[in-house]
Amino acid sequence: MFWKGKRVLVTGITGFVGSYLARALLERGAEVYGTYRRRADGMRPKNLVERDILEDVSLIECDITNISSMAQALDESCPDVIFHLAAQSFVHRSFIDPVETFHINVTGTTNLLEAVRFKGAKPKIVFAGTSEEYGLVIATEDQLNRIKKKGIDPFPPVQSIPEVPIKETNPLRPMSPYAVSKMAGDYAMRNYYHSFDIPTVVSRAFNHEGAGRGPMFVTSTIVRQVISLKMNETEEVKLGNVSAFRDWTHIDDVVEGYLILAEKGKPGEVYNQGSSRTNSVLSYLLWTVESAGWKVEKIATINNKKEIENPLEEDTGEMFGIPFLKTKVDKLLLEGAIDFELDDGGILIYTDKNTLTVRFDPQRFRPSEVPILLADTRKAQQLGAKITHTVKDIIKDQMNYYLDKEHRK
Ligand code: GDP
Repeated sequence: MFWKGKRVLVTGITGFVGSYLARALLERGAEVYGTYRRRADGMRPKNLVERDILEDVSLIECDITNISSMAQALDESCPDVIFHLAAQSFVHRSFIDPVETFHINVTGTTNLLEAVRFKGAKPKIVFAGTSEEYGLVIATEDQLNRIKKKGIDPFPPVQSIPEVPIKETNPLRPMSPYAVSKMAGDYAMRNYYHSFDIPTVVSRAFNHEGAGRGPMFVTSTIVRQVISLKMNETEEVKLGNVSAFRDWTHIDDVVEGYLILAEKGKPGEVYNQGSSRTNSVLSYLLWTVESAGWKVEKIATINNKKEIENPLEEDTGEMFGIPFLKTKVDKLLLEGAIDFELDDGGILIYTDKNTLTVRFDPQRFRPSEVPILLADTRKAQQLGAKITHTVKDIIKDQMNYYLDKEHRK
């Protein structure tokens, strides 16, 4: 009954997460307001249309980089709860235009906090922080040595290895302008609680995905390209670093987590949101290939130097002290027995039908990379957060989404 009749403001409601969150809030009887940016092309907000809630939410045009606009949005919505999701959220983009990212993510966040403070209001604010704030996380000695050889010395220094699963108390070593901007927002939120008694709660969500996730994120990029292969619309898949590991969570589980943080999260505190499992970009690709109907038998690099038989062989044993589903390829990568680099050219996937080509695209590699993310989520679990979906559930939802030709455009 917590949400019935509550006034809720979602900044960035037209985004992927915002639209799912708004739908969940409406289902619980909340009165939902959302800020959005005016679009020059006059297009309707796609995510709200796809979630079928465009008519049910009150949209407020707002530029969060303008404090007067932000203050007006607050006046109009008078929220009991605010979810602050509006952001430039794409890591790759943040390297291209760091100032834009800082402007939207840092100035935007402080504008929201200042507008709340001047108004004298005390809404509970849940902030969308990110696992990217942890950045350079060291999982093995071998990984640390490889990083040091590249001239990178982790700071704050590594106290003990492995640094995964990542707790809220792990050191923050942001690796992109996006991560730095979110770290600033995270600290500002907590500072406003301590300085001005505004009840803020920080969520540090690990990667969350599902139908409608922005096409530039790796899960969407993979599923979209694999479906295009299947439909003979393209001849090969293009990817960047396939050796990175992410803790991927289904959007529905993260949305439930956000609601729980607003209901029960302690002001001034930080909570991880994730699944406590980690898989490589390569496994995500190979699982997608299998779910599109091919049986993966072997992979080899285009330069023919590395190959793995039955790369999707599964293992549910413990690694880093927790059990989770991983593939043979994940294990080999995590143990440092294999690595895939730009020089390998790409990967050939031998299947029961034909051989698929994945080409490494130098443009898709990042100037600095987050090698592994794996969440320790015990703190959020204590409040009641649960994981109910697998990575394969995410792939299934994304496949169904991209089977619609309109979505592949
Ligand atoms: P992030 O964790 O917020 O950066 O989420 P992304 O989905 O953008 O990227 C996840 C990982 O996939 C990163 O380690 C990327 O370097 C890697 N990756 C490999 N190929 C691609 C690609 O084509 N697009 C994107 N977005 N990421 C890629």
